[in-house]
Amino acid sequence: MLQNIGVIGAGTMGTGLAVDLILHGIGAVLVDQSVDALEKARSEIISSVRFAPLIKRTAPRVADEDILTKIRFTTSLSEVHNCDFIIENVTEDIKLKEEIYRNLDRICPPDICFGVNTSCISITHIGGVTARASQIIGIHLMNPVFLKSSVEVIRGYHTSEHTIQLTRDFLSQLGKDAIVVNDYPGFVSNRISHLFMNEAAFVVQDQVAQPKEVDDIFKKCYGHTMGPLETADLIGLDTVVHSLDVLYQSYQDSKFRCCPLLRKMVAAGLWGKKSGQGFYTYNR
Ligand code: NAD
Repeated sequence: MLQNIGVIGAGTMGTGLAVDLILHGIGAVLVDQSVDALEKARSEIISSVRFAPLIKRTAPRVADEDILTKIRFTTSLSEVHNCDFIIENVTEDIKLKEEIYRNLDRICPPDICFGVNTSCISITHIGGVTARASQIIGIHLMNPVFLKSSVEVIRGYHTSEHTIQLTRDFLSQLGKDAIVVNDYPGFVSNRISHLFMNEAAFVVQDQVAQPKEVDDIFKKCYGHTMGPLETADLIGLDTVVHSLDVLYQSYQDSKFRCCPLLRKMVAAGLWGKKSGQGFYTYNR
């Protein structure tokens, strides 16, 4: 059983993962380069763990004082040197992730596996910047992490069966199933979902419909739980744009060209739920 996880990146996903780890009694070292992000993560983790039993019946009640004993917040990547497993959740930027993995490769003992939480970046590519390609695996967590019972797990070209089994075991500690797929940018989920989120943005840009009407068609006519624009707001429009750029560069296929409206919203600071405004307005 893994007991101490290095979580790199304390944004939407790193914070969500830390909440789930605490709810399952697993310790974490949460690393971010930004002190502000760590401060924000600390208060979000406390409130999410506190309210989790109201949202998910099986979630345990954890006393406030116990929450903070399970997690260490730091700006220093080297503090993950004695973690049993690493899950990296930094911004969707290949150059940034490459640098983190080169540093992790130096800091962590050679037998430690690294889980890449990415929307679209190739796991084989990340494996290639380390000297441990067989221990690099994609762990595409879904948001909000503690409410999701399945995870898309991506096998890079060199990922070993041992790494896949360790990942399955770790996810089952969190009560989650692994759906294992092969590596190509965007995998299954985002290669498909980013096409419909992007096209939904084009539909709004072309004034075919308002965001609510677009989403209502998916929810009321197709029976989806969320519409494509609500999903984009939840993911973060900046992350959606980064992912479309990665897909466009990777496949050199114009079907992944980013809708100008999405880029304009990101430039204007409309990043979706995390900034309080995207296609919809949120109370923060
Ligand atoms: P985010 O922008 O909310 O958070 C990213 C965090 O990384 C920020 O706090 C930033 O300060 C930190 N960071 C950047 N450079 C760093 C560095 N060098 N060292 C340490 N920390 C650094 O992004 P997110 O939505 O949490 O996404 C993280 C990853 O997970 C991305 O690759 C994204 O594609 C993927 N992902 C996101 C979602 C989603 O719904 N948001 C779902 C699945 C996967």
